[in-house]
Amino acid sequence: MFNPTMEAMSRDERRALQSERLKQVVRREYDNVAVYRARMDAKGIKPEDVRGVEDLKFLPFTEKTDLRDQYPYGLLAAPLSEIVRIQGSSGTTGKPIVSGYTQGDIDVWTELMARTLSAAGAGPNDIVQVAYGYGLFTGGLGAHQGASRIGATVIPMSSGNTHRQIMMIKDLGTTILCCTPSYALYLGESIREAGLTPKDLKLRAGCFGAEPWTEGMRTRIEELMDIDALDIYGLTEICGPGVSFECLEKKGMHVNEDHIIPEIIDPATEQPLPPGAAGELVFTTITKQGMPMLRYRTHDICKLDDSPCACGRTLIRMGRITGRTDDMLIIRGVNVFPSQIESVLVGLEGVAPHYLLVVDRVNSQDVLEVQVEMTEDMFSDTVGNIQSLGARIHDRIRSIVGVSAKVKLVPPRSIPRSEGKAKRVIDNRKL
Ligand code: AMP
Ligand code: ZN
Repeated sequence: MFNPTMEAMSRDERRALQSERLKQVVRREYDNVAVYRARMDAKGIKPEDVRGVEDLKFLPFTEKTDLRDQYPYGLLAAPLSEIVRIQGSSGTTGKPIVSGYTQGDIDVWTELMARTLSAAGAGPNDIVQVAYGYGLFTGGLGAHQGASRIGATVIPMSSGNTHRQIMMIKDLGTTILCCTPSYALYLGESIREAGLTPKDLKLRAGCFGAEPWTEGMRTRIEELMDIDALDIYGLTEICGPGVSFECLEKKGMHVNEDHIIPEIIDPATEQPLPPGAAGELVFTTITKQGMPMLRYRTHDICKLDDSPCACGRTLIRMGRITGRTDDMLIIRGVNVFPSQIESVLVGLEGVAPHYLLVVDRVNSQDVLEVQVEMTEDMFSDTVGNIQSLGARIHDRIRSIVGVSAKVKLVPPRSIPRSEGKAKRVIDNRKL
């Protein structure tokens, strides 16, 4: 364990710590963030009414739309002069959602990723290859900072370039791999195709997250590379990776409860559910200074498990993410909302407002096809003009949504109409 005092403290002690921290963060939010103050006032709650964790359920929720509406700095609880980093992710429209970190927030995030890597057995003698993307996305820098904190040797590869990734794994003797699970599977298959076996490599474990995956994928990744494949979870709004991590028991992800309080709610009634019940995951950050989140609705569906874990950590565990309560898709690690694609299409000459997203997994990699209906005029235009419209849509999707999609222009009225809510997505990945 990286921090046994915090990871294995008694649950009573932790609850007392959480209560103290919750009171402070609520006060901070009320005093510094206009939206939080207005929401609490509307519910008639003052910071001094919050006595501890038991009062969490009375506090208002925060949604992704709040980050959109307050973009970019409206939810900051610290002055910009104290913000040392911005990270971001895609939002529901063309604008990203962004989060600001103080140096203290970066230090906490770094420790949480150090705990994550330590739980995979990593230490100063390890060589950690980070194949998550670097940039606004939290995956690359998050894993990098955590690996540096434990004193491991970091190889900051960023994502892509499979041939080079394999060369580094082999030549540099990488022991720990960090990337998305679909990329891990692809890497594993590519390693085998290159004629290598696990005996040629020193890989021991991998921390894989940022998108949903399955036990079947775990088994396959473990076989291909002879490693322990561990699930890790996080989201930009909370800190990035490091929110929760699996230990080598592989029985769910320990939530770093001394910094983040998880709740499961019934998404319809918004009432908290007990451990063991599936529902929507909600997080409250209790130590964040830059952009603390009060009861943030992740829209991820899972269960909490408070039974003891053989590893000795007393941190509650969350199960695999089994779905979403909204229409967000994750394609090659990038969050994609159908509404973003729609915003690219509206106003474009030659296309009708009818589209369909078809997602598949080909050779372990996600493939997105965007089918768009042409107008009658466009349909009778030249092949050259139709092709250049397709290329324009492709480029706009890539720059606004951040994924490369195959654009298929289809004849007018060829996408099936539905009588109720339009069906915009066909996901064939079976996750
Ligand atoms: P981002 O803020 O771009 O990192 O995206 C965060 C979202 O990625 C989460 O809300 C989840 O939907 C998804 N995610 C991250 N880690 C996992 C994981 N281990 N399993 C399933 N989904 C994940
Ligand atoms: Zn454990």
